[in-house]
Amino acid sequence: MDKTLNIIGGGMAGSEAAWQAANAGLKVNIHEMRPKVETFAHRTGNLGEMVCSNSFRSDDHEQNAVGLLHWEMVQANGLIMQTAYQHRLPAGGALAVDRDPFAESVTAALLAHPNISVSYEEITALPEDGQWIIATGPLTSGSLAEAIQAETSAAALAFFDAIAPIVYHESINMDVAWMQSRYDKGETEEERTAYLNCPMTKDQYETFIDALLAADKTEFKEGETAGYFDGCLPIEVMAERGRETLRFGPMKPVGLTNANDPQNKPYAVVQLRRDNALGTLYNIVGFQTKMKYGAQKAVFKTIPGLEDAEFARLGGIHRNTFINSPTLLDDQMRLRSRPNIRFAGQITGVEGYVESAAMGLLAGRMAVAEMTGQTLASVPDTTAMGALVTHITGGAEAKTFQPMNVNFGLFPPLDGIKGGRRNRKDRYKAYTDRAKIDWQAWLGQTAQDAA
Ligand SMILES: Cc1cc2nc3c(=O)[nH]c(=O)nc-3n(C[C@H](O)[C@H](O)[C@H](O)COP(=O)(O)OP(=O)(O)OC[C@H]3O[C@@H](n4cnc5c(N)ncnc54)[C@H](O)[C@@H]3O)c2cc1C
Repeated sequence: MDKTLNIIGGGMAGSEAAWQAANAGLKVNIHEMRPKVETFAHRTGNLGEMVCSNSFRSDDHEQNAVGLLHWEMVQANGLIMQTAYQHRLPAGGALAVDRDPFAESVTAALLAHPNISVSYEEITALPEDGQWIIATGPLTSGSLAEAIQAETSAAALAFFDAIAPIVYHESINMDVAWMQSRYDKGETEEERTAYLNCPMTKDQYETFIDALLAADKTEFKEGETAGYFDGCLPIEVMAERGRETLRFGPMKPVGLTNANDPQNKPYAVVQLRRDNALGTLYNIVGFQTKMKYGAQKAVFKTIPGLEDAEFARLGGIHRNTFINSPTLLDDQMRLRSRPNIRFAGQITGVEGYVESAAMGLLAGRMAVAEMTGQTLASVPDTTAMGALVTHITGGAEAKTFQPMNVNFGLFPPLDGIKGGRRNRKDRYKAYTDRAKIDWQAWLGQTAQDAA
């Protein structure tokens, strides 16, 4: 095979995509701008550099969705996971790695591969022809980001994620909360009941504001803040501007009647909006925050109806370049307007080292299939890989699309398995058992197709 796959960015996703494609026989050229052009977070010129924590999070492939993603990537001969296990450090149930030897090993493996070459250069424009994967990550360089924006429109490319916390629907107390859109707006019953509302009395509101103001916050890193504050303020900053600000903003109680207690008008209301097509996840509207994770859980659990809330992800605000994948990408991760370009990694709107590498793995395999004339079966959405790629390329709400970690809320529910906290262990085991069978079958099928 003399076809060349070009990959822009040699981070988590680009490195994994290159490995998968090169092992399948494609020639691969990685275009990496470091060390010539630096970012504010990377420190070296290594491929696969971890920019912040040294953890790949939980390694529990029976009870945890990210642990399952580890497992699936190992089955697919993933470079990032294999190398992570080689450089594992003691960290309880988490997979922590010795970051510099890890990145040095990833770099060495890629440079030693006979099918891979690396060009140390910044790519500043969208390539016109050939097969490409853009895996330039949350810190995509300015010129390339401008080129992507010119192709996809301003609204389709974000430079910050302002993430509101996402709650598992099954953990919300519906004896307290109720479904209703403000002023019952909407053409259909589904639209008129699109929001989940949590009511607050005056005392509860005052306690909530006190907790918000007192909570521990994280600070922006140097280089992170530019241009941010014009758009969406963290809720704690809104609260600092006045104790009533939130009651006239995201927590306004107007146009809503508490179906569980119609006689009493709530003093404030927290609204949650469905976050995925399955209806298993709800985001707390307007609650982007820089509170530390522990503080977020403590503060949000004071909201009536959310006392036992379990979070699929907590809120955050970060420098992060990502595209609106649900509208821009097809199910093969190709840019609809330019199908010779795929996207992979954090820029597709997944979040985290593992998820980014996972999307690189898939994009690499999808490129191989296309370039060798095979048809790749859809990745089952019952697997961690499939649940993630299905979410970003269609399952997520495009209008409110924000980066997503892998979590069991993205998986289609299982028949005959009970919901609720008490049955969680059995349910998660059933999810991971089903995923393992389906992932092995998909890998087997794709191996046969290639033969
Ligand atoms: C400050 C910060 C802290 C983070 N902390 C964590 C954390 O603790 N844990 C976690 O799981 N995730 C964290 N993330 C998210 C993390 O960056 C991603 O999870 C992961 O590294 C993304 O992988 P990627 O391959 O998509 O991007 P990256 O790993 O960033 O790789 C992208 C590569 O593209 C290169 N590049 C960019 N533009 C160009 C261009 N125009 N031409 C050529 N090359 C280019 C970059 O130099 C880089 O090597 C953090 C992100 C940031 C910004």
